[in-house]
Amino acid sequence: MPVLVMKFGGTSVATPDRIKRAAKRVGVEVAKGYDVIVIVSAMSGETNKLVGYVEETSPLFDAREYDAVVSSGENVTAGLMALTLQEMDIPARSWQGWQVPVMTTSAHSSARIEDIPPDNITARFAQGMRVAVVAGFQGISPEGRITTLGRGGSDTTAVAFAAAFGAERCDIYTDVDGVYTTDPRICDKARKLDRIAFEEMLELASLGAKVLQTRSVELAMRYNVKLRVLSSFEEQSDEAGTLVCDEEEIMESNVVSGVAYSRDEAKMTLLSVADRPGIASIIFGALSDAGVNVDMIVQNISEEGRTDMTFSLPTNQVARAERAMNDIRGKDLNFAELVTDDNVCKVSVVGIGMRSQSGVAAKMFKVLSDEGINIRVITTSEIKISVLIDRKYMELAVQALHDAFELEKAA
Ligand code: ASP
Ligand code: MG
Repeated sequence: MPVLVMKFGGTSVATPDRIKRAAKRVGVEVAKGYDVIVIVSAMSGETNKLVGYVEETSPLFDAREYDAVVSSGENVTAGLMALTLQEMDIPARSWQGWQVPVMTTSAHSSARIEDIPPDNITARFAQGMRVAVVAGFQGISPEGRITTLGRGGSDTTAVAFAAAFGAERCDIYTDVDGVYTTDPRICDKARKLDRIAFEEMLELASLGAKVLQTRSVELAMRYNVKLRVLSSFEEQSDEAGTLVCDEEEIMESNVVSGVAYSRDEAKMTLLSVADRPGIASIIFGALSDAGVNVDMIVQNISEEGRTDMTFSLPTNQVARAERAMNDIRGKDLNFAELVTDDNVCKVSVVGIGMRSQSGVAAKMFKVLSDEGINIRVITTSEIKISVLIDRKYMELAVQALHDAFELEKAA
């Protein structure tokens, strides 16, 4: 029988009552003849609570025990979902990651899935079981320890199962009814997209759109998994939600498909570093060793052999980055001053249409200039343009760009 993967996020399994509602959806697909693999998140708020317990108990926690604790939220919802389905006379069984097994790397708290042997679950389907409920977000390392996949990781569990079982589709049930042109909370003209290309979704996810974990989109793109994002709170139909798919499957699209933002960005500048081979490697090597995720990088033209180096990073990593730079100062690196601005944000426009149409950057800069917004740093890729601007202009910039690129209208 064809296999369908259905993933329910934290708000969709937040109470026994909501689990019942989700189970009814599963029942609809079972009645159509699918063998269903259900991936569940923890009840909403649960993972945060567990992370809090760990931090309270041990500020410099052992990552293996962090995983042991924070993976447990999904165990509860997996068992409850299986029980709920059984109450509906649907043959169902739950699996924790290690039981499948979901084999991962040993990078605790951000492990990657390496393999999901389908044999155990397939054998049970052959015996008449109709639904396998799997705890998302978790797996087992080569050392036999429980691992987790990073926050939001049950999306990745779902896509990995869809790939491993050759599922017809992977439906991600969440509390929004799809992927929007931008965040409807800051732009009331935001429009739900019927389809979005994997690459666009990948950019939007890594730019901070929280609807899918970035790695899940990467996996879906690699294995061409048909991925649908839809609400578990609205009526179900085959057209519901947003389909994340190959760009060939999209007939018409706007040049820009979405405007994304990330609020908590900071900008750091090292003034007057030597302009010679090896300097960038020293700076960004030290930042990387300190676990700082650098995003944009700009090096100024040099004067008399010295230059300024600017980079952006999440605001909560500023202290770490400052420490890393001060640790190498006077040893591997000399600089006049380290200037930090933690009042910036990043706003980006994304669209595969940019590959074939020029002038998008010019238009974006014109829109921002008309609003009197100063651009501090710019970066581009084939399908994305990002700017760093003062945080107080974030909403204004998003709304103005949404208007200028007419994203409220479908192509
Ligand atoms: N429960 C985990 C989290 O909150 C994983 C997930 O829900 O995707 O990050
Ligand atoms: Mg999520």
